[in-house]
Amino acid sequence: MNYNESITSIKGIGEKTAKLFQKLNLTRVGDLLDFYPRTYFAYPDALEVFPEDFESGTIAVLVRIQRKVYTKHSARMDVTSTQVVLGDVPISLVWFRMPYVKNQLEPGRLVILYGPCKKDHNGFKMEQAAIYTPEQYAALQTSLQPVYHLTKGLSNLTVKKSVKAAMEEISLEDYIPDSFLKKHTLIDLAEAYQRIHFPTAMEELLDARRRLVYDEFFDFILRVQLEKAKEEEAVLPIELPKRSLYDKVRWQLPFQLTAGQVECLEAMERDLLQGDCKQRLIQGDVGSGKTIVAFLAMLRMAENGYQTAIMAPTEVLAAQHYETFLEYCKTYHIPYPVYLLMGSMSAKEKKEVYGHLASDEVCFVIGTHALIQKKVSFSHLGMVITDEQHRFGVKQRMNLSVKGEHPYVLVMSATPIPRTLAMILYGDMQISTIRSAPKDRLPIKNAIIDEANRTKAYQFIAREIQAGHQAYIICPLIEASETTEAENVTEYAKRIEKIFAGQGKVGVLHGRMTPEEKNAVMHAFATNETNILVSTTVVEVGVNVPNATVMMIENANRFGLAQLHQLRGRVGRGSAQSYCMFIKDKSCKDAKRLEILNRSNDGFEIAAEDLKLRGPGDFYGIRQSGDMNFSIADIYQDADVLQMVSEDVADILRVDPELSSADGVLIRNHLKQKEHQIYDNL
Ligand code: ADP
Ligand code: MG
Repeated sequence: MNYNESITSIKGIGEKTAKLFQKLNLTRVGDLLDFYPRTYFAYPDALEVFPEDFESGTIAVLVRIQRKVYTKHSARMDVTSTQVVLGDVPISLVWFRMPYVKNQLEPGRLVILYGPCKKDHNGFKMEQAAIYTPEQYAALQTSLQPVYHLTKGLSNLTVKKSVKAAMEEISLEDYIPDSFLKKHTLIDLAEAYQRIHFPTAMEELLDARRRLVYDEFFDFILRVQLEKAKEEEAVLPIELPKRSLYDKVRWQLPFQLTAGQVECLEAMERDLLQGDCKQRLIQGDVGSGKTIVAFLAMLRMAENGYQTAIMAPTEVLAAQHYETFLEYCKTYHIPYPVYLLMGSMSAKEKKEVYGHLASDEVCFVIGTHALIQKKVSFSHLGMVITDEQHRFGVKQRMNLSVKGEHPYVLVMSATPIPRTLAMILYGDMQISTIRSAPKDRLPIKNAIIDEANRTKAYQFIAREIQAGHQAYIICPLIEASETTEAENVTEYAKRIEKIFAGQGKVGVLHGRMTPEEKNAVMHAFATNETNILVSTTVVEVGVNVPNATVMMIENANRFGLAQLHQLRGRVGRGSAQSYCMFIKDKSCKDAKRLEILNRSNDGFEIAAEDLKLRGPGDFYGIRQSGDMNFSIADIYQDADVLQMVSEDVADILRVDPELSSADGVLIRNHLKQKEHQIYDNL
């Protein structure tokens, strides 16, 4: 069996199961191996006494069966029950429809019961507990159980068995040269897959993770470098003789561009005229004013006869840019049409836009990755901008060059990664940085607030609303599937509605809404029809509502620093004083990370601190930043591996730029195997 075979060749996966896997985008054997567990479950140590403050929860208890076990037969169901004591506290045990458990519960036996337990009138009660001998339980405890993302109809057990079956059949050849593996003490690839899915201990998991992080970076950096080496026929250099509209708009803007904004525009102009740089990264912290830079750059191109496109990672953001661009065009009497292209539009609407793009018409087009689908062709595309590039990540970055067009590419990112990392990740680009915020901005005031003082936070929000401002509330996190996340937000929003009854209107936003619903909610908030927006982290990227002055983040201690900084960036986007309140869980023992945010609003400083704080210990503890959409690697946490990979790739390409040696061919084949994960859903 090999990596690219269909998953139906795995024992136990028929058409029906394959369909379910397909919903998770898993169609080939290799996809399944790369489908890492979302987390791991470890059986807890068995208790011999109840902890003092125990009320309810899933536990394991070590008890001796002393009383007789009864099964009551009735028409509806069999109920088997008995009572045991833990320390001196009685636990009543009940099993429904499981009369056979009696065989495992002979009086005198020592057993471990595992299951949910809660306080009862005269002790505790466990229902449907699993029963193990101490030996069986000890065996279970020696391994970590993988927990996968699932979809309706697909059980964790099915995924686990399928991965196991695939592991047994597949032949995996390690493509990373031995010398590198030895040098970095990395484990073998097959071993890494085995351990990431079926680890027996935490250390094993860390070794596996390190190897797979290495591979993910390796794949990415090598592709970037190979892409860079290709001599593509670019439209560059180009002449830009006309500039009257561009100058007029710059002159008439209601604010003065910051030095950083001007530098970016100048760098872009240099690139275009001299033709020696096809791609530029614009790094600018949240709120530094990247949109106007994009607009001016596009206007300059349009004025000289080119079509330009800007791509955003979410429909909410694309729709917002569309509104902004329409507004600019109206205000400054700009004669070019603005089009919007998103996946959720009807086939007819899309077709109409395709028509415009394929014609000679000079226009601005704004969209999501719907812009880089095969069906879209441009007649004279001069520039593509991707906004919030870090959110697109690896796949779409590669896809831009697949399109066959050769426009100048400007990528914008609000992730203030340190320059050394940026130079590795964006090795194919020049980098410009907008360091300073617009002059009219007051620094955001921050506060870390204990859960117990949440009411005070609400009162503060009420006062801001009274003053005409708006607020975001990022709702509590839950560790479950997204469906329940939607329910969770809706529940929480209802509470907020009650609390603010008569004081403010509440909108709700979450990932499971349709794009139309999301846009409607954002529109209502942007126009101040709603005063409070209760949301999951979907508002994190790019949303610009300058009238919003408060950001309140529940469970703040469970987010990564980079993500918190992005969330906070939704406020402080106008001249009014803004505030960010980080709500800290009861369970939070270490607020070091929150304190960094509390004392600094500077994304670069925060990123540097983030790098220092993270270590290999943070395995799945904190939500990762999700930057660049790596599936297991994290650019901050794994910065050392990234550096390592960058040097290795350079070494490899130095001696074998075409990847034609025996080692090189192995690597090349590996890249090919993984190609579908990057290009297939175009
Ligand atoms: P981001 O860099 O996060 O994408 P935006 O481009 O959305 O930021 O800009 C945030 C807000 O700042 C917008 O309302 C924009 O009009 C405003 N803005 C941009 N540049 C300046 C400037 N030089 N002076 C004052 N306000 C500005
Ligand atoms: Mg933006």
